[in-house]
Amino acid sequence: MKKDLYIDFDSTIVNSDKAITKIYNNKYKDYEGFELAIWQDHKNWAYKEICPLVHIHEEHPSEVIKDYFSSNEFFEYLEFYENAKDVIKELVNKYNVIICTSAFPMNAARKVLWIEEHIPEIDEIIVLINKSSHGYGKARVPMMEEDSIFIDDHPQNLYSTKASSKYLFKLSSTDYNNNWDGPIFSSWKQIGQTLL
Ligand SMILES: [Mg+2]
Repeated sequence: MKKDLYIDFDSTIVNSDKAITKIYNNKYKDYEGFELAIWQDHKNWAYKEICPLVHIHEEHPSEVIKDYFSSNEFFEYLEFYENAKDVIKELVNKYNVIICTSAFPMNAARKVLWIEEHIPEIDEIIVLINKSSHGYGKARVPMMEEDSIFIDDHPQNLYSTKASSKYLFKLSSTDYNNNWDGPIFSSWKQIGQTLL
């Protein structure tokens, strides 16, 4: 029997930060004080450091960032991390691969359609809608079987489930991913080498 392998979507399979900074750079490039947002410098779920003009010009910056995550541009700009698509295509032969993602009401359906269009090999998707979540919120998925594997870029999501093998996907240090002393993946190549 195949083992269950749960994988987060944003900032684990796809480079959501790159899409968000592209939207920001297009929108604010002519504003006073603009500096190009570099996705590799992402540290904070509300993009405070790298998208500061949202926080200066918008009354509710975190709502605006959520709107970015739901926009046409976001799904247009969204890219897989290097090797992610190829490794997932191989993982589905060995595991029941389930994408487990937090979403907002406005982007949930689009996210599922994006997954269906780009990785139709994925058969199961768990979408958690939590309107007040700040980039995490999987505490309601304790049904992850003990004998399963879970990969997520947010330690709090990993801590909240019973999966027996948990891996943090970590490309760089942020203000939310340092409280993890379990195993870390820093590339999809490494995920393939370990799990295939
Ligand atoms: Mg994530």
